[in-house]
Amino acid sequence: MKAFTKQPEVHNFIDGQFTKNGQDTMDVISPLDGSIISNLPLSTYNDVDKAVKSAQKAYVGWSSKTLKERIQIFFTYRQLLEKHMDELTKLIQLENGKNYGEAKAEVEKSMELCEFAVSMPQIIGDEVQEVSKGVECRIERKPLGVVASITPFNFPNMVPHWTMPNALVLGNTMVMKPSEVVPLSTMRMAELLKEAGLPDGVFNVVNGGKDVVEALCDHPGIEAVSFVGSTKVAKIVYKRATSTLKRCVALGGAKNHLLVFPDANPDMTASNVVASMSGCAGQRCMAASVMVGVDKVQHIIDKMVVEAQKIVAGENLGSVISAEAKARIEKYIAQAEADGAKILVDGRNTTVPGKEGGFYVGATIIDYVTTDMSVAREEIFGPVISIIRAKDLDEAIEIENGSNYGNAAAVFTQSGGLAKQVMERASAGMIGVNIGVPVPREPFSFGGWNDSKFGVGDITGRSSIEFWTQNKKTTTKWNPEAQTNWMS
Ligand code: NAD
Repeated sequence: MKAFTKQPEVHNFIDGQFTKNGQDTMDVISPLDGSIISNLPLSTYNDVDKAVKSAQKAYVGWSSKTLKERIQIFFTYRQLLEKHMDELTKLIQLENGKNYGEAKAEVEKSMELCEFAVSMPQIIGDEVQEVSKGVECRIERKPLGVVASITPFNFPNMVPHWTMPNALVLGNTMVMKPSEVVPLSTMRMAELLKEAGLPDGVFNVVNGGKDVVEALCDHPGIEAVSFVGSTKVAKIVYKRATSTLKRCVALGGAKNHLLVFPDANPDMTASNVVASMSGCAGQRCMAASVMVGVDKVQHIIDKMVVEAQKIVAGENLGSVISAEAKARIEKYIAQAEADGAKILVDGRNTTVPGKEGGFYVGATIIDYVTTDMSVAREEIFGPVISIIRAKDLDEAIEIENGSNYGNAAAVFTQSGGLAKQVMERASAGMIGVNIGVPVPREPFSFGGWNDSKFGVGDITGRSSIEFWTQNKKTTTKWNPEAQTNWMS
């Protein structure tokens, strides 16, 4: 087997320069074949401190530019993303393992996120009003200062773009900490931002894991922390960042339920449900994890089996992120089997010829799952769907509402009335009607409920403007001779 080409060593990006900080390093492994493709420094508190100081220094000039000046960089940067689309796509594939189409969609989404950011002057909505005769009150949105963004492994390019463009165009400077297992896309992002003309120090990158995240939460120079990752870590980060009085939004894991009714279009439903659970190898926080089959839906399940059998690892299915992830997912499937569920399509022991060292799990459908089983309750984060049978809408809603998570939920039906009931009663932040991955496109914002998100507001869209800014209220009077009332 031929290993992938080694990538340059990962460096921190501080004050516009790549610097080799941190004493210890760890390997970066391509999940496509298990080969070592790079290594990265494990930054220390000292490295974080340098990055924060660089961002503080840059904040003075960056925040004093006008919004219209700041967005110019992002017009150029968005063009660079398009120009380097193929290269960026392949880099995502290499470090994350998803297939070409899925990786390309990430870069396209990052471009859309930049398009939202450059529209900021049109939507920011600063207000001015004559509140008393001759007296004006205005509200302006001002940046916070240095902010931090901590990202997960599953979208190495897109999730960093959930936060970076909006936070920066609004006048903040940033220290980003990518997932230590997929650091290459963020390093390339830093290079392209520099090429687009972003002043040094406005965007900085530190690398590593838990220790670096803790340093970011604790550092007194950071005003706000955004986090995307598992619920376990989201809770730790939310508590730690807010305990040092920072603003925080922390997005967590998911267990998304799709409610399928007998009147649903069989072909469209089967292909949507299977695509939702297996796309990006099930490593999407919007992936279908439980299908609640209401009443007589056997004909749809039969079609799902046919769809799932068309999925071939290494062709239209990428790898999962690591050997540990593969082992964890396969253990869940084995546990479901031991608990009495029926495995309709089994993705265990999947290998790809020529890439035997890679971490592959085939699409898996598990039927007759009950709500007490671990596959019904816990986030699996692999290409696996559990089918729970329900007798009617009320029981289906009860199953969905029983989950601690609340990222997405979807309903498949031809009935507007049924769909409306699910839209009203599902306990999730993002709802799909005949859509298996209901990601709201810009300008609509992204964010879940319950244990899928901690903090106020969403991470993208208009909602993020609140998060990345604070309001300044100014009351002015210029003409003392003007008639004024008691509020003057
Ligand atoms: P993770 O929680 O393991 O890691 C996320 C980040 O936290 C990484 O940068 C990592 O270095 C850091 N980290 C890990 N352990 C830590 C600890 N103990 N203390 C402090 N920091 C720590 O998540 P992951 O495995 O990279 O990503 C997958 C998870 O992210 C899934 O649960 C998925 O549902 C979730 N996710 C959620 C959304 C969403 O929008 N809600 C989006 C993408 C991914």
